[in-house]
Amino acid sequence: MIDLIKECSAAQNIGISGHIRPDGDCIGSTLSLCLYLRKVFPEKRVDLFLEPYAEAFQDVEGIDAIDHSFQGADHYDVYFCVDCGKDRLGDAEALFDAAEKTINIDHHISNKNGCGDVNYVEPEASSASELVFDLLDPGYIDAKIAAAIYMGIVHDTGIFQYSSTSPKTMRIAAQLMEYGFDFSQLIDKTFNEKTYHQDQIMGRALLESILFMDGRCIFSAIDHKTMEFYDVCGKDMEGIVSRLRETKGVECAIFMYEYEPLTYKVSLRSCGKVDVAKVAAIFGGGGHVRAAGCTINGTVHDVINNLSVHIEKQLEG
Ligand code: AMP
Ligand code: MN
Ligand code: MN
Repeated sequence: MIDLIKECSAAQNIGISGHIRPDGDCIGSTLSLCLYLRKVFPEKRVDLFLEPYAEAFQDVEGIDAIDHSFQGADHYDVYFCVDCGKDRLGDAEALFDAAEKTINIDHHISNKNGCGDVNYVEPEASSASELVFDLLDPGYIDAKIAAAIYMGIVHDTGIFQYSSTSPKTMRIAAQLMEYGFDFSQLIDKTFNEKTYHQDQIMGRALLESILFMDGRCIFSAIDHKTMEFYDVCGKDMEGIVSRLRETKGVECAIFMYEYEPLTYKVSLRSCGKVDVAKVAAIFGGGGHVRAAGCTINGTVHDVINNLSVHIEKQLEG
């Protein structure tokens, strides 16, 4: 466990970042950490740099702390990399590399050794937000900080249902609820609610999904033209792969979208038999046993052919 207050006490400038294409856990963990450090150390500069987030997060309390410029202090005494290894920091990687001291808080098995001078990496944890909670002095937590952590946990556990949800996760959630925030609205606004365009693209992806390997695998792909037609970007397609995984009989689900010509962002989900972190790692990606991602160049058929060899090996092994 890291003593956050001790690690930061000598610093003047503190930076925080999470992964590219930030999700709910990435936003919740970095935002709560930022709000907390600003409260504990009002005299210090604490910057939070993340790429633009989905519209669904715009009403989260304190969200204005997030800066998309990646242009901060000349130098950071401490830099936090949260919910990923440094290879997924995007524009923040240079800030992280230049910092005096680096701290990594993560729960990805693909980053189990950590990338910081100081590391708190627990692959068993439901979320990076849960790990941030471990490190906070409860005396400084308020409703805003609690809500951000709660949101991160909700997003990475699919509202407390994925297997990464532990009794500890539930105890933390219970403690957070005591701070008093509208958890029901937070879940609806940031997790459940979809725009009309998101509904349309989900429908299209499900309609065109294809079962293979005797119904044990399913995939769906959205090409760039289709993304333009429905006016959606990557952030709008969160949730599709989880829905595919819930198809009866399916062990492994693949969803991909073409974010650049012949370059697909691939999301993998498993019911537990297939370790998709291992599959993603073969293609330079990573993640967790049951949820992982990577980027693969080629046509949809190339991507499926490449992935299915490794999935089939595991299903048969
Ligand atoms: P996604 O399918 O993008 O929602 O990602 C599923 C999980 O895998 C999340 O925990 C991501 O943070 C992680 N992940 C996605 N892409 C990568 C990658 N290229 N490298 C490492 N982890 C990834
Ligand atoms: Mn994440
Ligand atoms: Mn996470």
